[in-house]
Amino acid sequence: MIFKRAKRWNLLTQIKLILLGAPGSGKGTQAKFITEKYNIPQISTGDLLRNAVKAQTELGKKAKVFMDEGKLVPDKLVLELLEARLAEPDCEAGFILDGYPRNITQATDLERITEIDLVINIEVDFNLLVERITGRRTCKTCGAIYHIIYSPPKRKALCNNCSGELYQRDDDTEETVKKRLKTYETQTKPLIEYFLKKGKLRTLVSDSTIDMMRLKVESLLKETFY
Ligand code: AMP
Repeated sequence: MIFKRAKRWNLLTQIKLILLGAPGSGKGTQAKFITEKYNIPQISTGDLLRNAVKAQTELGKKAKVFMDEGKLVPDKLVLELLEARLAEPDCEAGFILDGYPRNITQATDLERITEIDLVINIEVDFNLLVERITGRRTCKTCGAIYHIIYSPPKRKALCNNCSGELYQRDDDTEETVKKRLKTYETQTKPLIEYFLKKGKLRTLVSDSTIDMMRLKVESLLKETFY
């Protein structure tokens, strides 16, 4: 039902999306593609938190303790960052939420602030996730994402786009990754059922290349919003 309502809108109005999926499912990569194609901002609560940690704000200092342990940062702190970000003018055309909500409380917090059109759930075989995350490298300058085996940069440890230095996130080590995956299983996975019941969720299985996945996402968005 929600899809029919969304279809009556067109791309000049709003697209409000959530990308749901375990760490390493490729949410960030797909979100970047949607951002470029549909000109709506990607809002990653992970990035917002990492920026707060880097800026050493009070919130950032509190959040770091949880992030280093692979745990979820308390809902209130994340909501504070998210509300401020959603109030910025570039969100008027819509947005893609990447990494939020992460539990049922966050989903209900979000629904109090705004309405969501579509939740794309990216499903990946559990065994692939650890390998994907521990091989992930991110550009310090532009945020582009690489994988040391599956999508290596042309020059070692340098970004193809901007020549920025590539780094491994502090929480992408094997030990923390396993904790983050457990957190996902217990706290975030119940959101699949939650949004399914609301008629808003579509699942895409990520069993092929990034480009194939991009085509699946694109065709789902066309089907939903045109
Ligand atoms: P991500 O970049 O989405 O993998 O997030 C990295 C880390 O930031 C997570 O392991 C959490 O500690 C924290 N984080 C990101 N988003 C949230 C959220 N919505 N709620 C709580 N913690 C979050």
